[in-house]
Amino acid sequence: MRPAVYITRKLPDSILQHLSGHVHIKMWDKENEPVPQEILQEEIREADGLLCLLTDQVDEKLLSGAPHLKIAANMAVGYNNIDVAAAAKRRIIVTNAPGVLTETTADLTFALLMAAAQRLVESSDFLRAGNWSAWTPMELTGQDIYGATLGIIGMGRIGQALARRAKGFNMRIVYHNRSRKPEVEKELGLDFYTDLYDMLPVCDYVCILVPYTSELHHFIGEKEMNAMKQTAVLINTARGGLVDEEALFTALSTGKLFAAGLDVFEKEPVNPDSPLLSLSNLVTLPHIGSASRATRLKMAKLAADNIIAVLSGKPPLTPV
Ligand code: NAP
Repeated sequence: MRPAVYITRKLPDSILQHLSGHVHIKMWDKENEPVPQEILQEEIREADGLLCLLTDQVDEKLLSGAPHLKIAANMAVGYNNIDVAAAAKRRIIVTNAPGVLTETTADLTFALLMAAAQRLVESSDFLRAGNWSAWTPMELTGQDIYGATLGIIGMGRIGQALARRAKGFNMRIVYHNRSRKPEVEKELGLDFYTDLYDMLPVCDYVCILVPYTSELHHFIGEKEMNAMKQTAVLINTARGGLVDEEALFTALSTGKLFAAGLDVFEKEPVNPDSPLLSLSNLVTLPHIGSASRATRLKMAKLAADNIIAVLSGKPPLTPV
């Protein structure tokens, strides 16, 4: 009998065809709605493999009811939705989708930086609301990007891809990372800061690109925002929990920071009544960092290939 795989969201037909050549598939057949946890708990009882998304909580309770499960393949590079220790205890392999989304996410991060710096969304809203009366010397003026200083927190795959883009804008690039990266520094001409608090005051832009863990909850909070320039722009395309949203609201509404761009939120989807959404100096996106068609297909294919490998007795391609 073919191994059973549960897929937690409707995926494109090409991915399903690819998988169904190797395994028996069951799938939550909705595209825009996560599978309810109680249904997932029920479905996972018979599953040998799980293809899941960052909207699924793969926790101790879920895994304790999954006696046959051999692999949980996350269709994301971040895997903070999975209790990796609980999986390891049960010898369940966890895989993620690194690499295939790096360039797309770096593109989006730079786009968000540009949109926040140059007030693109606010300016578009201004025009559509009929407020454009005449070319005005200082109206809707933003911050320059060319030649400015970019601080990257987390010089991993996406951090490096972002730095390559920033070089094209003649930016000075500084970074803070858990470990120093001398070869990357040399190749891209980066300056390393061991101490984040030494780096923040020199940055015109700060982009955070570290994985989210409980230790890094609110990594960027009031103290860190206070250390930044008043003209600075903060961009978070990593995970919402890294930035203290209350502190960000205060910083943006009191002029302690010039602007921010968020692709990710502490709670997703963000509540439409959130005070953050009332701020004209905040550009907000619904977690679309990796959302090009080609990249999303590559992420799904990589998750499928990890499942096929593990369930046919081979090593996973991208284990966590
Ligand atoms: P990565 O290659 O693993 O890079 C992460 C970097 O963060 C590494 O260089 C790591 O340092 C550094 N780091 C970890 N903990 C740190 C700490 N406490 N202080 C300073 N630096 C620390 O990951 P990636 O592929 O670039 O992805 C980064 C994150 O982006 C993912 O975890 C994911 O959450 C997020 N993401 C979001 C989207 C989206 O749709 N918005 C898309 C893709 C990814 P070392 O080099 O020392 O390990």
